[in-house]
Amino acid sequence: MSVAQTKAGEPQAKRRRIMAGMRPTGRLHVGHLLGALQNFVALSQTGDCFFEVADVHALTTKFESSGQIASDVLEVVIDWLAAGLDPEACTIYVQSRIPEISELALLLSMITPVSWLERVPTYKDQINALGPAVATHGFLGYPILQTVDIAIVRGERVPVGQDQLPNLELSREIVRRFNHLYGPVLAEPEALLSDTPLVPGTDGRKMSKSYQNAILISDDEAATNAKIKTMFTDPTKIHKTDPGHPETCPVFFFQRVFNAAAADDIALRCRTGRLGCVEDKADMARHLNAYLAPIRERRARFESNRALVEEILGDGTARARSVAMKTLAEVKGAMGL
Ligand code: SF4
Repeated sequence: MSVAQTKAGEPQAKRRRIMAGMRPTGRLHVGHLLGALQNFVALSQTGDCFFEVADVHALTTKFESSGQIASDVLEVVIDWLAAGLDPEACTIYVQSRIPEISELALLLSMITPVSWLERVPTYKDQINALGPAVATHGFLGYPILQTVDIAIVRGERVPVGQDQLPNLELSREIVRRFNHLYGPVLAEPEALLSDTPLVPGTDGRKMSKSYQNAILISDDEAATNAKIKTMFTDPTKIHKTDPGHPETCPVFFFQRVFNAAAADDIALRCRTGRLGCVEDKADMARHLNAYLAPIRERRARFESNRALVEEILGDGTARARSVAMKTLAEVKGAMGL
């Protein structure tokens, strides 16, 4: 069996362990697909990947409406599987089902200076954006939990965008401090810098469910077409014959991704007033729907068989937990507990 064919749980001599997590935000959208899921699928073909649904992290901002989190977890996993993650080739698990994560977070919180947590750039930004109610102890300690997510499953590499580098650097610092105090127990994770495109939503801003501008993976063709029909385009192009600016148009962003072979021609016809937005949107919708068709088909299969999804999560969680238990035992041993 080649390295690429190695299955999760088998000896991983040549494959480095990659850890990535995602908060359960419910049904995922095309921005998640292009920004993270395609990368997850590619990484799982060569690396020993551990993918975590970070439901405890969700509590940092959703502690007042936690009743929704469990169903959001399931929706996220269904979208992961629909996007092509093979549970035989990677480990998919839920953070809250591994109690060792919370225990290690408590232990690492004992050695992490508060000043390190307060200087994380997103800490103050998010309090400004979301209000002082989010400024809980758990919210401040969020980077510790992130560190544990990686360290407890022995993650060596973490796919991150440029903006997440400061958080990973803090994780590395916490690990270094632990190893300095108690001996070399934890692995210092490295960044696996990934190009995460800024995917525009239907209103031209970053695609996000909170902006209500998202095309969901689970949307059917009719819903997708309706959203694309109302999509923002170049506001200076009112008539077909007006010269457009495709480089600033979200419709063109998707043409470049899903209809790459025709992108140059589309851009030229838009600029020279030979292509109208109505026609271009319909064409883009066709290509996006064609790309999403097999993903939606897989999604429908998993959605109608939630017992199978639970079984996949159960297997993955058991696999991740056995690694976590071993790591925690080593940590406690090193600390003399
Ligand atoms: S023709 Fe296409 S690329 Fe040009 S502005 Fe209209 S929608 Fe955008």
